[in-house]
Amino acid sequence: MILKIYNTPSRRVEEFTPIEPGGVRMYGCGPTVYTYAHIGNLRAYVCQDILRRALGFFGYRVTYVMNVTDVGHLTGDDDSGDDKMIVSAREKKKTVWEIAEHYTDAFFADVDKLNIARPDTVCKATDHIPEMIALVKRLEDQGFTYVAGGNVYFDISKFPRYGDFAGLKLDDLKAGARIEKDPNKRNPLDFVLWFTSSKFGEQAMMWDSPWGRGYPGWHLECSAMSMKYLGEQFDIHAGGIDHVPVHHTNEIAQSEAATGKKWVNYWFHNEFLVMADGKMSKSSGTFTTLSRLEAAGYDPLDYRYFLLGAHYRTQLQFSETALAGAQAGRRGLVDRISGIVRRAEHSQTAEAGDEAGAYLTAFTEHIANDLNTSRCLADLWALVKDEDVPPREALGCIERMDSILGLGLLEQARAADAADSDGTLSSDVEQLIRERNDARRRRDFARADSIRDELLGRGIQLEDGPEGTRWKKLS
Ligand code: AMP
Ligand code: ZN
Repeated sequence: MILKIYNTPSRRVEEFTPIEPGGVRMYGCGPTVYTYAHIGNLRAYVCQDILRRALGFFGYRVTYVMNVTDVGHLTGDDDSGDDKMIVSAREKKKTVWEIAEHYTDAFFADVDKLNIARPDTVCKATDHIPEMIALVKRLEDQGFTYVAGGNVYFDISKFPRYGDFAGLKLDDLKAGARIEKDPNKRNPLDFVLWFTSSKFGEQAMMWDSPWGRGYPGWHLECSAMSMKYLGEQFDIHAGGIDHVPVHHTNEIAQSEAATGKKWVNYWFHNEFLVMADGKMSKSSGTFTTLSRLEAAGYDPLDYRYFLLGAHYRTQLQFSETALAGAQAGRRGLVDRISGIVRRAEHSQTAEAGDEAGAYLTAFTEHIANDLNTSRCLADLWALVKDEDVPPREALGCIERMDSILGLGLLEQARAADAADSDGTLSSDVEQLIRERNDARRRRDFARADSIRDELLGRGIQLEDGPEGTRWKKLS
């Protein structure tokens, strides 16, 4: 089976073929670290993680590189607004470097809690200023730049396919109402490669360059670092959908202008997580960070489960009700799987069949079809509900499925099973005991007996006495 993914520039789901057989080189735009990542940002990294795991599932060796934008003002294209790093440093009475380190650590703590596998390389913008300067130099040598008002600009008129990637109608944009704040630009869509003159008088992070002391434009870091670690041509570049018209468009322009080659083959973009009242921003609402979800009693993996319920290319509305639903769903799944773990422990029969095969095939088809995770969850549920699948075989299949879903299911089911061994019952066992009692009241002894046998298979013996039904765990 071949993995198919949607490719933004062609606007089609395409079969994935890497540049080098067997290996995939992938870059994801990482976090800006002047404050905590919000749960919308984290959706981007969960989606990239699913893609990366799916590539591994299909047998590819993946090299995944992610940047950290630790240059404070680089959250937009122009020289307006506040330097977010300085504002944050002032508020917290720390240096900008301490701020960046603190929020980088916080980001990767969230990444770990969400079972997002760490990138192979994490590269900080501030560690790659020489590479960025070299890229600007290369563009300058080939005539793609101009200097105005002390800044170096990329001249989009020298790169005719500038608007192709995002389907931008350049003439409309030029003629449109967009008011250009920067009078140095020849075209409103030209963008800064290097600033020496900024409204940020007290800029904390500055470096020497051939154009004077200053700092890089926002887009430069991703081109310079991805090419350093992955080569001038690589397979996949990922990021949120908001990056299509500006950030990724500019990354492509400066990378392909510099090398004269096609830069990236597949562009992977996740849709946004939104709040009921609209867009999510770093300052809105109560449930904006993972820590806040945890403080409200949710496991970070409840949030991951919630995300898996939607396709990565559909906008997803966050609500606490939906998150509570995901929590119940994930817990139910773990309960069922811990039942299977117990049945496997007590199963005497050697299993040689392939009862789970059909479930794994369906799951594989669904993930291969542009990462349809909600269908994959449904396949997993169908498997865990099918009591005809021998337990050890089911566990093997669950492990394969969870290598993509990343919910830590077997680990948690085994932990729940161990907790049960010291005198408590999991909720699905309790539910079965209740069902059996109901069956006995209805005088449906066949059903009651079959439940008793099932529980026995899981190592729980029931005894009916005058005070009701008692249970005992068999060791
Ligand atoms: P930032 O730290 O703002 O640069 O964003 C990090 C990543 O999160 C980028 O890939 C953004 O495109 C993505 N992103 C930002 N907001 C959202 C959102 N509400 N939902 C999903 N992805 C988002
Ligand atoms: Zn980027």
